[in-house]
Amino acid sequence: GVSKLLDLEKLCVLGHGNYGTVYKVRHRQTSAIYALKVIRADPDASQQPYQQSHEMKILISTDSPYIIKCLGAYESLAGEKAIVMEYMDAGTLDTLLKANGPFPESSIAHIGYQVLSGLNYLHAFNIFHLDIKPSNLLVDKNMNVKIGDFGVSKIMPESDPPDYWDIYVGTYAYMSPERLDSNMYDPRFVSAADIWSLGVTLLELYVGHFPFLPPGEKPNWMQLVLITRYGEAPSMPKEASEELRGFISCCLHKEPNKRWTALQLLSHPFICGKGRLED
Ligand code: ADP
Ligand code: MG
Repeated sequence: GVSKLLDLEKLCVLGHGNYGTVYKVRHRQTSAIYALKVIRADPDASQQPYQQSHEMKILISTDSPYIIKCLGAYESLAGEKAIVMEYMDAGTLDTLLKANGPFPESSIAHIGYQVLSGLNYLHAFNIFHLDIKPSNLLVDKNMNVKIGDFGVSKIMPESDPPDYWDIYVGTYAYMSPERLDSNMYDPRFVSAADIWSLGVTLLELYVGHFPFLPPGEKPNWMQLVLITRYGEAPSMPKEASEELRGFISCCLHKEPNKRWTALQLLSHPFICGKGRLED
């Protein structure tokens, strides 16, 4: 384990985000490599949604091969936070997509199986990730995929379901219709928000770009509301299998109560037939 932050030597920056910086670090005594996420203290705490999040709490309390492991968490008197995590040596699905181009169906199924297993674990504890997208899915050289970045996640027991504004966080492009339009919001189906984001993510990895628009086009917020709320399902390349088409449409039902759950999707033929083979 890691007992003191001082024992860690910074090697390089792995990523910058909204609330801080992630470093690759080495433990001086053991030479073990970790990722260290340092979250800035904000002098004006009321302006910082991070304060309401449960990132540290969730990372410390979860134990799944499909969720990034936390090996230590620290908080300074000034309010700066640091989280030591296992290091994922192949980066994120976003960097892999940019480096190597679109993934074949067998990889999509294998990634889908792993992320669904992670989401199934989280949803069973009433934890909602709320920011599933390629840059928050970490990968190692063996194509093990783990869910990371719980910066906007929520823990919400059934007795205290989130209200609309609690889940209006994350990244617009991956937000489900009921998160972009408060009239569609239903507190009984919050987990379905993560399933929509996963559907968009997997389709993006398959076609190589944001799937609701032609390559190169970046949607603005208003377009996204119209596309996800009223638009047709994204068109699929003609070589896509029936299983993949069916799977994606189960993730992208507009009504959250019709979307399949993580547990149901784990036994979808696309995942059972292809995802598990290589696991
Ligand atoms: P943010 O809230 O700033 O987006 P993330 O937790 O998503 O924070 O981390 C930002 C980036 O840092 C990621 O997109 C990834 O490139 C890199 N990163 C984060 N955690 C790890 C890790 N455990 N191993 C390797 N790289 C990581
Ligand atoms: Mg992130």
